[in-house]
Parts: sequence; C-alpha cells; structure tokens
Amino acid sequence: MTTIKLYNTKTRKKEVFTPLKADDVRMYVCGPTVYDRAHIGNARPVIAFDVLYRLLQHVYGKDHVTYARNFTDVDDKINARAAETGRSIREITDETIGWYLEDMGALGNLEPDHAPRATEYIPEMITMIEGLIDAGHAYAAEGHVLFAVESYKNYGSLSGRSVDDMIAGARVEVAPYKRNPMDFVLWKPSDAATPGWESPWGYGRPGWHIECSAMSDALFGKRFDIHGGGLDLAFPHHENEKAQSCACGSEDDFAQVWMHNEMLQVEGKKMSKSLGNFFSVRELIDQGYPGEVIRFVYLSTHYRKPMDWTDKKAKEAEATLRKWYAQAAQAVDNAKPNQTVLDALADDLNTAGALAEMHQLSHADDVASLRWGLSVLGLLNGEIPDWASDRDPLLGTLEAKMTVLRSKAMETKDFAEVDALKSALTEAGVSVRMSKEGVSLEPAVGFDASKLEGLV
Ligand SMILES: [Zn+2]
Repeated sequence: MTTIKLYNTKTRKKEVFTPLKADDVRMYVCGPTVYDRAHIGNARPVIAFDVLYRLLQHVYGKDHVTYARNFTDVDDKINARAAETGRSIREITDETIGWYLEDMGALGNLEPDHAPRATEYIPEMITMIEGLIDAGHAYAAEGHVLFAVESYKNYGSLSGRSVDDMIAGARVEVAPYKRNPMDFVLWKPSDAATPGWESPWGYGRPGWHIECSAMSDALFGKRFDIHGGGLDLAFPHHENEKAQSCACGSEDDFAQVWMHNEMLQVEGKKMSKSLGNFFSVRELIDQGYPGEVIRFVYLSTHYRKPMDWTDKKAKEAEATLRKWYAQAAQAVDNAKPNQTVLDALADDLNTAGALAEMHQLSHADDVASLRWGLSVLGLLNGEIPDWASDRDPLLGTLEAKMTVLRSKAMETKDFAEVDALKSALTEAGVSVRMSKEGVSLEPAVGFDASKLEGLV
C-alpha cells in the first residue's frame, strides 16, 4: 500500500499518515459561511482537500473514506444580508448553498459524503455546551455562555501561541461578563429580530466554533483522522474547536492530523475589493476560464505555499490541458495508475510534482498513465470537456483566409489586412500562431465563437 505523508500543523512535522481505522478514514473540512458567492480564495481548500479525498479513496478504497464539510448557516453576516435585502435567512442560505455547490462542481470537486448545516445541529450544540459547563470548562453570564480558556491546559498548542501572544495578536472583544479576555462565546443571546433557539440560557444562538465541534462529534465521534481548512482558520477557529472538543472527552486527541492551506493572491497582490482584484469563482468562469483550467492553476502550487493567480498561468494551463486531453482521448478504457504521480501526491499532496511528472508522461506519450493522472487530480471527470474537444469549424475557414491574406501581403509588403484580422481574432479569444508551416488558430481564454462569423 502507498504510504501517505502529511504535514500536521499540530506537530509541525510531515508524518506518515496512519488512519485510526483503515476501513473508515474520516476527514472533516470547515466549509463556508453562506451569504455570498464563494471568492477564488475560498476555492483553495476545496480543491486541496478534494485531491486528498481522491488520494485517500485510491489508497484505502472508495467505500472506506468519509468526507464531511459543513455549511455555516447561522452567522451575523447572514443576518446583516437578510436585513439589507429584506429577504429571509433561509432563502439567502439555500440560494448561496446552491451557488456554492454549482461553482465548486464547475472546478471539478466531488461533493463530500456529509454536508451538515449548522442549524440542523442546535440540540447537539446545546448538549455539548451543557457538558462543558458541568465539567467546569464553561460558564454562563448575562445570557452568554463562554469557554474558559484557562480551564484547558493545552490552549494555544495547535497554533503554537502562548495566551499572551494570542491576546496581543487577536482582536479580542473585551466584555464585562468575561472572566478572561480570551474566553470565547459558545452561546449568545438573540433579540426578537435575530434568529434564535430556546436554551437553558435563554433565547439565543450558538457561537461559530461550537458548530464544528458538535457536528464532527455527531458524524465522527470523539476521534477522527484529518481536520482541514485555510490557514486563517488555525487561530482562533481551530484552536477553539480543539479546546471545546478535547475538554468534552476527546482529551488531547480529537483530530489526529490538522492540515491548513496557505492563502491566495492575484497577480502578485493581496486580493481586496479596493484593488479591484477580488473575484468570485463564478466571475472567473464567466470571464471564459474553464473550470479545469482554474483548477490546474491551483494545483500548480503546493497547498502550503502562497499561491498567485495570474492570467499568464491560466493561458499556459489551458494550452497544456488541450494537449493532454487530446492524448488522454486515446485511452478511453485503459487509464492506468502511475506510481510516480501517486508518490508525488502521497508526499504531502505535492500536486506541482504530480503535474511535472505528467509533463513527462505526455512527452513519452504514455496516454494511459496520463489519463489516470488527470482523473486522480480531478482534471478529468468522465468525458473530455467540450471546450477542449470542440473546434469551431469557422476556425478552419479563418485559417485559410489568413493564409491567403498573408501570402498576398508577403508580395505587396502591406500587412494592414493581416494585422487587422489578427487583432480581431485575438479580440475574439483566439490564439494566432504564424510560422513557416502555416497559420494556426486555437481557441484561448475568453474564446467567443459568436465573434467569428463577422470575420469570415
Ligand atoms: Zn470549523
């Protein structure tokens, strides 16, 4: 069996992965708060853990891996969106969950086995909070319930911070009902206009962190294998989740391996609305980038390294995929697992290494291994995608037209018509290559077939 090594945030080491039960590998990944379209940074953990899910399925068997990813459907941002738009919370969260699944599906991600919604686990959260109070790890004050960080000796061990560092670094809300400024909310009161549930502490709603502790406990029990999410969740979210769950009977065990992906930039700059480089996944798809191309760009950087989204990378990815798909099309029924690609992935999800190996496979025209590599990376889910297999017949007509214009221009030395057609083609998202062998036109990023008609 292939040995998988994973970098564990908890131990700060790359370790051999040994599941608690080889026939029941369990992975929990923190999912989105659902009030808006997922931005391209949100897609990074989804893609990284989707590759891990596929790898685990390959190594342990499809039926022996369970993947859970939650939806946070109770949150002040959702309440604010409802107040702003006059729409109901349920309408907003249902619509956003639909968008999310559609957009993540377009990027080639499999749906997890469980997609629990926080609001469906309120009784479990209340029970867990009661247990924490009984065990002396939490206290009720002024309609709130708070986790007492001093009651849990390993607080800070996941993110490697001391309590003093955490206070200095975090925007800690100082409130009169808190015994320690680091104590965090398990339950808070709701007014009549805010969603809430009856509880032993009055009408209210849960804090964010308790959700994942209650849902992972309900689905997986006290101990499971992998807990994942973006690096921005390591503190405070995961630190708090770990504290709650460990204080609730998981001791210091809970998740065996904690994995965090690094963040994403756009063209070398931090993504921000003010810089105008803040895109949703849907906007990127609408700009003409196929989902597989977007996914390829993500996979070309190791998940623990900062990733830069650039248009140049997308263009290169598209050209590579077109070539690989054409080769893979010759191996419809005989995809063959390739140990070198597998070894790269098993080495802490080295997707960039796996792609490098696939370039070699393409070079050697090993189409069966290439096809398998595409599928294990989620770049080929069934058929070759239409965008890569369909070639608009007008491109052939335009190639012929361009060839004639070019040979005329060679004689007259007047290239005006050639240049005009070339720029119109570029404008229509066509890559134009002219060499001694002739003219070649290929659809590129932003290809718009409707613009070709007027050029013939
Ligand atoms: Zn979580």
